[in-house]
Amino acid sequence: MSEHPEAVILAGHVRGVDDMCTGCRAWWARLTPYPCWQVEWAISRHARTTTARFLGGAR
Ligand SMILES: [Zn+2]
Repeated sequence: MSEHPEAVILAGHVRGVDDMCTGCRAWWARLTPYPCWQVEWAISRHARTTTARFLGGAR
């Protein structure tokens, strides 16, 4: 597993030409409007991690 699952999610879940998430479609054959909940989670987690790193130094 990656040390940064949010980065993997952001790389795999991208906006398709029809504004649907290509990652959700490829993995689960599911049509999900982008950003899907996984992207939302990854973004919020990424922001929190970046903030924590900024406030508390390298972890
Ligand atoms: Zn997705």
